Amino acid sequence: MKISQKAAAYISQEEKYGAHNYHPLEVVLSRGEGAFVWDVDGKRYFDFLSAYSAVNQGHCHPKIVGALKDQAEKICLTSRAFYNDCLGPYEEFIHNYFGYDKVLPMNSGAEAVETAFKLARRWGYVKKNIPENQAVIVGCEGNFHGRTISIVSLSTDPDSYAQYGPFTPGLVKIPYNDVKALEQVLEQNSANIAAFLVEPIQGEAGVFVPDAGYLKACFDLCKKHNVLFIADEVQTGIARTGKMLCCDHEGIRPDVVILGKAISGGVLPVSAVLADDEIMLTIKPGEHGSTFGGFPLACRVATAALEVVTEEKLVEKAESLGKIFREEMGNVKSPFIELIRGKGLLNAIVVKPHNGKEAWDVCERMAENGLIAKPTHKHIIRFAPPLVITEEQLREAIAIIVKSFKELE
Ligand SMILES: *Cc1c(COP(=O)(O)O)cnc(C)c1O
Repeated sequence: MKISQKAAAYISQEEKYGAHNYHPLEVVLSRGEGAFVWDVDGKRYFDFLSAYSAVNQGHCHPKIVGALKDQAEKICLTSRAFYNDCLGPYEEFIHNYFGYDKVLPMNSGAEAVETAFKLARRWGYVKKNIPENQAVIVGCEGNFHGRTISIVSLSTDPDSYAQYGPFTPGLVKIPYNDVKALEQVLEQNSANIAAFLVEPIQGEAGVFVPDAGYLKACFDLCKKHNVLFIADEVQTGIARTGKMLCCDHEGIRPDVVILGKAISGGVLPVSAVLADDEIMLTIKPGEHGSTFGGFPLACRVATAALEVVTEEKLVEKAESLGKIFREEMGNVKSPFIELIRGKGLLNAIVVKPHNGKEAWDVCERMAENGLIAKPTHKHIIRFAPPLVITEEQLREAIAIIVKSFKELE
């Protein structure tokens, strides 16, 4: 990729002083607005990653930034050692918004997943009478739930877990999109199984959409065996797939919902675990927490971000624009395009290498043409623009994607 001297300086600075735990596309961003970002040289791009679906409401949404500024001048952090006048209103708002009795606020998605692990194990001991230290959580191969030791203990991706052992016990992996596999594991050992943890669509795995009916069948099995159904909606939640939660597509209400990313519109790290009293109240004061979890700034920002989702009808937009994206891309004849899949505005193209070019080259070419996206797992490109993108903008973006594929033929 051609990069300016200015951009190169930022890149080498990160290289020199930062840990090398990422391999970014060589674009250096300095500004964002709605569906667009600009680099340090003033060049504009369509953002088709949206910070892994954290920026569903668009960059620097004025209402969300307004809430941030307003609250920042009053009080930012109190800790949970004291009450404040933001947390209660936020918790009631979340209760009304998602329909669960209680919310447990955390910061990163990984922390919320960890919280769900603890909650499931605790419920297992207190309510299901699983013998001490025997609780099992079942997860799926190909998952991505974050980066902590316990979470990578459940990963099947060597990049995530290799040489980070010893691992957390009590975690079992079964194939994704395989109802029989869940049935088998539950029939063998359901007395010790506290929970089944699943992504309604596997985002990081490459937007892997399970068969219709899979989630519902798994949910029913969990009910049959008194096992909690935990949905990791960190990437799929908050309107991204054309429903508020992706599980809504199958009409199921998970026992535990994990949210993160877009719950703050990408403005602050905010995450949350939702559950009803029967489950949530098994954790007592002093038994779990976080210094920043549910801090006043986060409460105000997340409330504004969720109001934007409703006010701007982002669920409906994701649904209708997603259809246009898949239809338009489906009509494109290209030796690179093996498969297009997704739901709402969470989509992916599986790229067949051609002419010695692969997904990374396509992403570089798209960047040159004014659209940024990133390969996941080498041959898959995820396309997930902010949901505030207009139809006209989407069609302009599709033209850039098509042009980029064509230029590489
Ligand atoms: C991004 C993601 C996480 C982890 O969130 P972080 O904020 O990066 O810790 C967990 N689950 C899913 C499905 C995700 O996409």
